[in-house]
Amino acid sequence: MCYILSLDQGTTSTRAIVFDQYGKIVGKAQQEFAQIYPRAGWVEHSPRDIIGSAMGVIAEALVRADADISDIAAIGITNQRETTLVWDRKTGRPVANAIVWQCRRTAPLAEKLKEEGFAPFIYERTGLVPDAYFSATKIKWILDNVHGARERAERGDLIFGTVDTYLMWRLSKGRIFATDYTNASRTMLFNIHTLHWDEELLKLFDIPACMLPTVQPSSSFFGVTDKDVIGAEIPVCGVAGDQQASLFGHLCTKVGDVKNTYGTGCFLLMNTGDKAVVSTNGLVTTLGASDGEKPPFVLEGSVFVAGAAIQWLRDELGLISSAAESEAWAHKVADTAGVYLVPAFTGLGAPYWDASARGIISGVTRGTNKAHIIRAVLESIAYQTEDLVSAMQKDAGLRVNALRVDGGASQNNFLMKFQADISGVEIERPEITETTALGAAYLAGLNAGYWKRSELDGLRGGVTRFSPDMSEHKRREKLDGWALAVSRARLR
Ligand code: ADP
Repeated sequence: MCYILSLDQGTTSTRAIVFDQYGKIVGKAQQEFAQIYPRAGWVEHSPRDIIGSAMGVIAEALVRADADISDIAAIGITNQRETTLVWDRKTGRPVANAIVWQCRRTAPLAEKLKEEGFAPFIYERTGLVPDAYFSATKIKWILDNVHGARERAERGDLIFGTVDTYLMWRLSKGRIFATDYTNASRTMLFNIHTLHWDEELLKLFDIPACMLPTVQPSSSFFGVTDKDVIGAEIPVCGVAGDQQASLFGHLCTKVGDVKNTYGTGCFLLMNTGDKAVVSTNGLVTTLGASDGEKPPFVLEGSVFVAGAAIQWLRDELGLISSAAESEAWAHKVADTAGVYLVPAFTGLGAPYWDASARGIISGVTRGTNKAHIIRAVLESIAYQTEDLVSAMQKDAGLRVNALRVDGGASQNNFLMKFQADISGVEIERPEITETTALGAAYLAGLNAGYWKRSELDGLRGGVTRFSPDMSEHKRREKLDGWALAVSRARLR
């Protein structure tokens, strides 16, 4: 029997999943690891935790699958994006902890770039908006702030990688120094049109080109793991950043296909094919994963606070004792009776981009009860998603007909039905919600010849559908109410 091993290195935990040829999970393991907050707004991970947890979950998932490493036909890797590591080419020793995508330490640098008018130039090359989120400012920070790092980098002794690169480098004992298009497209150093590292951006950020990994298609042969490290030489032949892996895992491979992940936040991605759509609504353009040589363009938008607002109901307000309980509460009332909750706890992202907005509850009357508030929180997740769907439709000039969903909060049937209604789209929730890991497995399995592209649709398994049936009048009325509530959240 042989399998595909998918390694999913996320922000709070690392997972390994063993898939069989039917795309079914036969073994799975997960390990959480420490979040390091050295100062307010700073977030780091220990590189040792990243590789340690990866090795741990690989071993455990194999045991659970009753398999041996030599039963693995190929490895796929998917990872938290943008998180930045710099290490010594010879010794493998990192010069600092990984700077996590959420870390705001380089916000002043990103701000300065905007003030100096670099935003259009950066957007034109990378499809991104200057922000501390992406890797470029984080690499620069390490070179400028870690003693001796810049000289070592210029001598060619230090190398940079996102988490995928670091994992492959470690698993191959330094033989693989590569990344894929999707991860490269999140560094803010990669030209998404020429598919090369951009020399002018490297100059702008003062980053030596010799630090950078080779960039390959997401479904291609990256190299083999080292026998001493995991016990066998297994080909790594699928790599993609988590959101792009999820898009591929949903088989959103046609122009106009869209997926939304409902986790702590939401990530909505649309495949736009050969066309790099220029957004006038604050979305970013990035590269998607494919089984071919050329990556598709993708439009991406995110909601900062989605499932996190449910956690807030549970942990701060104590209105529910578990996230799942929110569904039953929402069903206790026919509607929110005019109550809107805008969870702009950390400002609002696309299409508003208003960092100074803050959360509000509006339309409260003497009759407002707990169920109305809980329902309003769930509805807010759908409204924020709808804001992105609508922005995407405008930017891409395409109508979204269906939304494929995953993530913890996609298990909430009330939320899924309300999303279908408020966006007027069909929602498709697959049985296997481990879509991110599945996407990486598909990419690896296709390149290894384990699966053929035509077989994948058949592996998709059951799908739960939610169809819209709200009248257009009611939908408009609700959306107008949401727009008014958002405008109030922004009144500062
Ligand atoms: P992440 O990968 O961002 O950590 P997950 O995909 O694991 O997130 O989803 C966890 C989030 O989903 C939490 O914020 C939680 O509040 C929310 N969540 C989980 N189950 C439900 C549910 N049944 N209804 C609403 N929200 C839920």
